[in-house]
Amino acid sequence: MMPPDPLQHMVTRFAPSPTGRLHIGHGWSALMAMDMARAAGGAFRLRIEDIDGARSRPEHVAGIVEDLRWLGVAWDGAMMAQSERLAHYESALDRLRAMGLLYPCFCTRADIQAQWAASASAPHGSEGPVYPGACRGMPAAERAEKLAALPHAWRLDMAAAIAMAGPLDWRDAPFPYEGGGGRALAADPGTAGDVVLARKDAPASYHLSCTLDDAAMGVTHVLRGADLRSATPVHRLLQALLDLPSPLYIHHPLLIGPDGKRLAKRAGSIALAELRAAGVAADALAADLRAARFPVGISLGQA
Ligand code: GLU
Repeated sequence: MMPPDPLQHMVTRFAPSPTGRLHIGHGWSALMAMDMARAAGGAFRLRIEDIDGARSRPEHVAGIVEDLRWLGVAWDGAMMAQSERLAHYESALDRLRAMGLLYPCFCTRADIQAQWAASASAPHGSEGPVYPGACRGMPAAERAEKLAALPHAWRLDMAAAIAMAGPLDWRDAPFPYEGGGGRALAADPGTAGDVVLARKDAPASYHLSCTLDDAAMGVTHVLRGADLRSATPVHRLLQALLDLPSPLYIHHPLLIGPDGKRLAKRAGSIALAELRAAGVAADALAADLRAARFPVGISLGQA
């Protein structure tokens, strides 16, 4: 018998950051990722992205688990927590460092602002103005001295990384996902500039941890919010550099509140916990979300 083709066995995931309680947009996203996997006879996994030391709170992890269970979101296998995977991030950083693709960055936010202000036109990328590069060409002696003395992040030397990886495509499927392998889009990670892969205050950045963990979980289909679309080419580049498989990406629109802004975790009234406390029935809410019926004033933004 042939071994199962990993791309036939669909694995999806939901990957919340425990920076607050979940709102209906998160519930909608999690239900869709779960339903996609179930319909394909695949698996749905939960990952808690809890390495943002400044914003992640352990009590929110428990709250997220409770909110998801209440809504009827059930994941396969054990939940993965990024805080338990630091050694994996460290070894990927070592590997990229040995490839000559990382450099330490000592800049504070204020330093970066000042560099932008001093340049006639701060180059803008997909995620705002890009890092101006003050630490990229730092003389070795100065770098060694600062490394020993100052807090630092590690940045990817984007030009060197792109040169090493060569041209790349990523696979994109429209939302709602109707099956198939999507279309190939040229990845243009260069517009993101020299992204941070290890933060001063966290052992790995979102880009690195997310890319490694999606691969470690065997995720074949990433369904996530359209706000993360600009991160996908960077993830594709890291996959190429680290010899990881590349999943299919589907970006869903974000929910927009009555103020015209995307729903934030602080938006209490549409938090799952608030709805539960108000006596809303979980199965009725789940049915509404599955049908993309949202409370009055809440609508879908651009995909
Ligand atoms: N942790 C991210 C968030 O809560 C989502 C990451 C992802 O789906 O790639 O926005």
